[in-house]
Amino acid sequence: MCKFNNKIGFKIYQDNLSEDVLHNLKHLLSERYIIEFSQFEDFPKKTIDFLNLKSYTNNFYHVNYNKVDISRYFKIKSSKDVIIENLIEEFKNSDLVNCNNLVFHVENENPFFVVNDKQKIFYFNKIFEFFSTFYEKYPEATQKVFYIENTFNSSLFYKDLILFLKENNINVGFCFDIGHAKVWSSDSFDTWYSDILYLIKFGIPIHSHIHANKGDFDTHSPLAELDSNAFFNKRITDDFIFSNNLLKDIEKLINNKNISVIFEYNINIAIMDFILFFK
Ligand SMILES: [Zn+2]
Repeated sequence: MCKFNNKIGFKIYQDNLSEDVLHNLKHLLSERYIIEFSQFEDFPKKTIDFLNLKSYTNNFYHVNYNKVDISRYFKIKSSKDVIIENLIEEFKNSDLVNCNNLVFHVENENPFFVVNDKQKIFYFNKIFEFFSTFYEKYPEATQKVFYIENTFNSSLFYKDLILFLKENNINVGFCFDIGHAKVWSSDSFDTWYSDILYLIKFGIPIHSHIHANKGDFDTHSPLAELDSNAFFNKRITDDFIFSNNLLKDIEKLINNKNISVIFEYNINIAIMDFILFFK
């Protein structure tokens, strides 16, 4: 069994579950790698039994941000109930695949939701109102952790938001997406990482998503695609703003026992990356 069992793994989409992937997946689960399920619905019981999902408790479920678009919740009164209902449905889907950890975006797909310092408290209160309405309608939800994933804002925004929600008794964690941080923030890896260490001190659970974005697009590419020569020599210098060595930075996440790590792209390629990484 791998020394990184229970803390490293791969993301999969229901659409991608070919026969091959299913067999890989069953093997990875039995080796205690973690799996993040994305966009799963009406998942066949037969497959759940085949994968033996009821015996694994460390897996993650990524909430579908098109169905639970929190910025539409704030803007359009008539969609409020629908979005809460959709989130309840997503929680039920996460039950099906036996996940107590949910990854959640607090901004929608378009990067217009960048919040300045003056607006921050206003939005934090809105987000709190959303979670507490949800808890009222669906009290079982308090048992599961909402890992808020960074998208369009700065490291400080998420650090403050997560501490604010924790103080107000929302069951939160932080999901650090390294590719989003690179594309959408101007903070260095070191800034993100020191904020992560700060959150750990406050008992916040930390999850992370590893993938590469060449240039400024959120492509979710394999690491080796950036520069395969550099990758095989464990040296990528230019894929993160102000990062001296991307692979060393990723190693920091992987070696920190408080952080779970997901390789976030096509599962078969991700496994190759992973194997090469630890060669
Ligand atoms: Zn991500």
